Amino acid sequence: MITAAREAVDLLIQAAGSWQFDDVLNGLRDREWMALRFLARANRFSRTPSALAQFVGTTRATASQTVKRLEDRGYLQRRSSDEDKRSVILDVTHRGEKILASDPITQLVHAIAALELGANNFRDFLRQILEQLDARRARHHADNCRKCIFLTEASGGASRKQSSYTCRFFRANVGESEIDLLCFNFERRESGAPST
Ligand code: SF4
Repeated sequence: MITAAREAVDLLIQAAGSWQFDDVLNGLRDREWMALRFLARANRFSRTPSALAQFVGTTRATASQTVKRLEDRGYLQRRSSDEDKRSVILDVTHRGEKILASDPITQLVHAIAALELGANNFRDFLRQILEQLDARRARHHADNCRKCIFLTEASGGASRKQSSYTCRFFRANVGESEIDLLCFNFERRESGAPST
């Protein structure tokens, strides 16, 4: 069992290498790709400089430099949060979405989508691994609303047409289009969450 696990890690490391490169690719460094990728997948609560710094594993100052480079290239734009005008939200622009079409990680996404065991199963295995690692390190990973303890179904009425869910952590509606996006305030609930 341990041998197979060790082999799996060897293979995982090599698969991870498929999106790593020296120097720059299409004008962006490794960390800039990582930042742009995260911001394209994060919900509005996590498209912030501090969440980005956590995800990339860097200081706030370094993350700010990365954001500046991406803004200068027209891949990102900043705006004030609708919930709190003092907070900054980083949005990927149309130009940013276009460059993401050449993201080196895309090949890996296609390889996972083609797995015989199914992408959903593979995702669930990885989620289990991350949960084990989180428990050992007393931390939690970014994930989507579907399995989050703070997600509740919004009550009926007219608002239901606009937003089916509410986040109890942020005390805000979460739209259908946001529910599968990454959030740094995610906290796993044991069972009963809506899932795909
Ligand atoms: S329900 Fe959880 S994952 Fe979704 S926005 Fe709220 S804290 Fe984040």
